[in-house]
Amino acid sequence: MAADPRFLKYVDEHQDDYINRLAQAVAIPSVSGNISYVKDVEAMADFLISQLESLGVKTQRRPIGTHELEGKEVDLPPVVIGEIGNDPKKKTLLIYGHYDVQPALLEDGWLYPPFELTKDPEGTGKLYGRGSTDDKGPVLGWLNVLEAHKNLGLELPVNMKMCFEGMEENGSENLDKFIESEKDKFFTGIDCMCISDNYWLDTKTPCLTYGLRGINYYEIRISGPGRDLHSGVFGGTVHEPMTDLIAIMSKLVTPTGEILVPGIKELIAPVTADEQAKFEAIHFEMKDIHDAVGADVTISNDTVKTLMGRMRNPSLSLHGIEGAFSAVGSKTVIPASIKGKFSIRLVPNLTVKEVTELVVKYVEDEFKKLGSKNKCEVVLTHGGEPWLADPNHYSYRAAHKATEAVYGQAPDYTREGGSIPVTLDFANILNLNVLLLPVGRGDDGAHSTNEKIDTDNYIRGTKLLGSYMYELAAISKE
Ligand SMILES: [Zn+2]
Repeated sequence: MAADPRFLKYVDEHQDDYINRLAQAVAIPSVSGNISYVKDVEAMADFLISQLESLGVKTQRRPIGTHELEGKEVDLPPVVIGEIGNDPKKKTLLIYGHYDVQPALLEDGWLYPPFELTKDPEGTGKLYGRGSTDDKGPVLGWLNVLEAHKNLGLELPVNMKMCFEGMEENGSENLDKFIESEKDKFFTGIDCMCISDNYWLDTKTPCLTYGLRGINYYEIRISGPGRDLHSGVFGGTVHEPMTDLIAIMSKLVTPTGEILVPGIKELIAPVTADEQAKFEAIHFEMKDIHDAVGADVTISNDTVKTLMGRMRNPSLSLHGIEGAFSAVGSKTVIPASIKGKFSIRLVPNLTVKEVTELVVKYVEDEFKKLGSKNKCEVVLTHGGEPWLADPNHYSYRAAHKATEAVYGQAPDYTREGGSIPVTLDFANILNLNVLLLPVGRGDDGAHSTNEKIDTDNYIRGTKLLGSYMYELAAISKE
């Protein structure tokens, strides 16, 4: 069912109001990771609540405990939950977004003050401001939909439940516990879930995102000598931890990206025909990645191989060595102990546990082969599972139709190479299909200087979220 034309017309006619709403939100510097902005994060929660209440949403401001920020114990930003509509004949949609933002200072290289939404004077339609695309623009997109329906006296096509947090940019602390504790209370009767907190792959093609890679981060800790030594005195007489570490780290991955830990390759889920077709259909040119990387240094020149390398295959990256001599100059130190850091991006069906077992066994075996008298230990410092949704679920089919209606083209089906841990929490704890429905473009610069959202994406994004609700209402669950 296409969206009510009165809704679409309303959106077109109220662009300025919508931009104004975004300007109000951007003006509140709700930086979650910085003690001096604690009050602003609270103010942003209040702003959201007053907006939601004025649009007829029953909201609750829920405390979720405290945390340590810059040495002080402070309240975590509240979770804002809300609901509107409880018609048992309608589907119930859960949406998530976050109202906190990354830090931003003019002197970091912003063209305009980061907490004043600024329209590009060149007339490109770009709206600059911290949080414009991550994630205030998309969150307000939902509010714009509600406003249009309220002012037009139109019934919403679905019941909605909402969960907004103010801690996403700082690890979503305690949100998993909140979801768990409300699992059988607030989070009941939900049919499916939609999150708008990622981006198109490029700047032109709308997409639906159905997968995220997980990550296991490891340290190889090698120690031996009781203190740092001088190579002129002890070089040639002792087993050196750094030499052992380099030997081990050189055996983890090849320069062409092949993971050398035995058993990992065998765990990867085989590519299905449907998946292959979805990858082949993605609008993507090698130039896109060369531009993003800043050089033509891709392992493959094949677009599908490159996309799969980023989205559906595991990868192993070497990140650094803690304790190594790294200053300018030629110090002749033999470090007594060092930590080598690397991570593996996980995909179905690799699990945190199985991969860790394989990694630990392999590193221990390889270390034994060195015949070193030093001590070696491998530690998983953090682990997160991969996530994959069924892209043929009715919620995705509804979003597909909504994209065609709003953008006049079918969406690409993408997966992210990184992780958005809350997605997994919602999907697993609530046992829901989660749709990632991005509003912004690949060049929006979330987290970086001059973050922006294009007016067209914000306005059509509002239509997209609204149209998705109509399509969702009409689509059969079969
Ligand atoms: Zn975000």
